Amino acid sequence: IVLFIIGRLMSFIRKLNCPWTSSLLPPELGSLDVAIAKRARFDGDAIESASRDFGKLFQAKPSAVLYPSSVNDIVSLVKLSYDSPFPFTIAARGRGHSVRGQAMAQNGVVVEMTSLKKNGSVSRVFQNPNGLGFCADVGGEELWIDVLMGSLEHGFAPASWTDYLYLTVGGTLSNAGISGQSFLHGPQITNVFEMDVVTGKGEFVTCSKHTNSNLFYAVLGGLGQFGIITRARIALDKAPNRVKWVRMLYHDFLTFTRDQEHLISINGLDYVEGSLIMDKSTPNNWRSSFFSPCDQSKIASLITKHGIIYCLEVVKYYGDLTVNTVDEEVGRLIEGLSFLPGFIFKKDDSFVDFLNRVRSGELKLQAKGLWDVPHPWLNLFVPKSRIMDFNEGVFVNILHKQNIASGPILVYPMNRNKWDDRMSAAVPDEEIFYSVGLLLSSEENDWKALENQNKEILGFCAKAGIKVKQYLPHYRTKEDWMNHFGSKWEIFQERKIQFDPKMILSPGQRIFSSV
Ligand code: FAD
Repeated sequence: IVLFIIGRLMSFIRKLNCPWTSSLLPPELGSLDVAIAKRARFDGDAIESASRDFGKLFQAKPSAVLYPSSVNDIVSLVKLSYDSPFPFTIAARGRGHSVRGQAMAQNGVVVEMTSLKKNGSVSRVFQNPNGLGFCADVGGEELWIDVLMGSLEHGFAPASWTDYLYLTVGGTLSNAGISGQSFLHGPQITNVFEMDVVTGKGEFVTCSKHTNSNLFYAVLGGLGQFGIITRARIALDKAPNRVKWVRMLYHDFLTFTRDQEHLISINGLDYVEGSLIMDKSTPNNWRSSFFSPCDQSKIASLITKHGIIYCLEVVKYYGDLTVNTVDEEVGRLIEGLSFLPGFIFKKDDSFVDFLNRVRSGELKLQAKGLWDVPHPWLNLFVPKSRIMDFNEGVFVNILHKQNIASGPILVYPMNRNKWDDRMSAAVPDEEIFYSVGLLLSSEENDWKALENQNKEILGFCAKAGIKVKQYLPHYRTKEDWMNHFGSKWEIFQERKIQFDPKMILSPGQRIFSSV
C-alpha cells in the first residue's frame, strides 16, 4: 500500500512543471508510517469532494486528502509538513459548510475531520472542575446535532447554539457560533472551558483560560490559523423539554429594533432573533415552516402594502415544573411590544425540534434539488448606532429595490459584553451590534448578480462610514484583513508566528497566503 501511494505521489509530482509547487507536497508524505499512509487518498473523488464547499463559488484542489483515524494521524501530518524544508499547507475540513473556500487547501492536504467520528459523542457530563455548572468533552469533528442528542441523554444541552446543527464543533469555534441565544450566553466561543489543539508546529497542546491561555484565546474565532481543534470542553445547561415560540410582525424598522433591544436587555427569554420578509424571501423559507397557509395570505397582503415586513422571533424554554406558568410568563415578557395588532403567531414545540428547525427545510430543499446550489452569502456585524442607516441603504434601497434576493435575511442584536475581547473573533466597537445574515441562494450560473449586490452593499457601508465587520469573513488584501482585525491585528500576527510560523494551516482563509 505504501509503495502504491508513493508511486502515485511521485507520478503526481512529476506531472507538475513548477518546482516550487511540486515541493508543496514532498515525497516524504509517502514515508509516513503505514497507519497514516493508509489514511491518505489521492483519487479524483476524494480530491473533488475536498475542493468544494457549501457556497459553490470557489474551488481549490488539494493534492491529497487525509481521513484520520486518530488525533495522532493529524499530529504526524502537521509535523511532517513543519519539519520539511518545503512545508505544504493543511486545512482541517469540518463539513465544508463555509461559502468561500475557507476549508480548502490548493495543492496541499485537506484533513476530513469527520472521519474521526466515534459513535456516541457525549459519553460523560460532569461538573466543571474550574467553576460552577456542567460541561462535556466533545471532539472537534463532532456535529452539533450529535452533541445535542448525546448530552440530552444526560438531561443536559449546550447553552449556545447556531441556527443549523449539521456543522462541526471545530468549524463553528473557528468562527464564533452565533444564534438567538448569543445575546444571553454569548457566542459558542465564550462557552468553551478547555481545548486540545494540534498547532502548526505539530504539537499537541491542551489549553484553557489558565493553561496555555494565549493559544486558547488565539484559536477561538481564529479562523483555523493557529491549530486544529480536536477536543473542546463545552458549557452545558439543564435541558428543557419544550419551548414556546412566538413571531411578531412589524412594518416600522425603528419600532422593530427598539423592541428587539428591549428584549435582549431584560431577563427571561432564551432566544431572540429577527428576519425580513420580502417578496422573494417568502415567510416560510428553509429556516422553518412556521406560518399556516392562512397566516401566509395575511402576511402576503402586508408585504404588498409595506414592501418589507420585519419579523421578531422569541423563544421561552419550559419544562414540567413551569408548564402551567409559561404562557403567563411569555405574556409578561412581550407585554408592551409594538408589533402590528393581530400579527402575533405562536407555536409550542419540542426543544429538539426547535433547535433542529433548519433541518426539515434543508430536507425539503434537497428533495427539490435546491440545497446544493450556489450560496453567495454575506454575513455582517453592524454597530447599533448605524442600524437605521443600514436599513435604509441596504434593506430598502438595495435589497428591496433590486428584488433578486432569495433566501432568509436575518437581523438581530447581540450584547458585546457577552464576547471576550481576548479571543480572535472581531466584532464592532459598540455595546450592542446587530448580526445581519443575507443567506441567499441562486441558480447554478446565476450567482454573479448576487455577488455584485454584495459588493454594492459593502461599498455602500464603506461610503456611508458604517463600520461593519464581516462574520465568516472573506477578504482579498492584507489591508482588508488589518482593517477587519483592527487593534487585534498585531496580536493575531504575533500568534501566527508563535503557533504556525510556517503558515501551514487553513490557507483557504487567505490571510497569510494567497492560496
Ligand atoms: P468548515 O467550513 O469545514 O471549516 C471552516 C473553517 O474552520 C476552515 O477555515 C477550516 O479550515 C477550519 N476548521 C474546520 N474544522 C476545524 C478544527 N477542528 N479546528 C480548527 N479549524 C477548523 N454559523 C453561525 O455562527 N450561526 C449559524 O446559525 C449558522 N448557520 C449556518 C447554516 C448553514 C446552512 C450553513 C451552511 C452555515 C451556517 N453557519 C452558521 C456557518 C458555519 O458556522 C460555518 O460554515 C462554519 O465554518 C462551520 O462549518 P463547518 O463545520 O463545515 O466548517
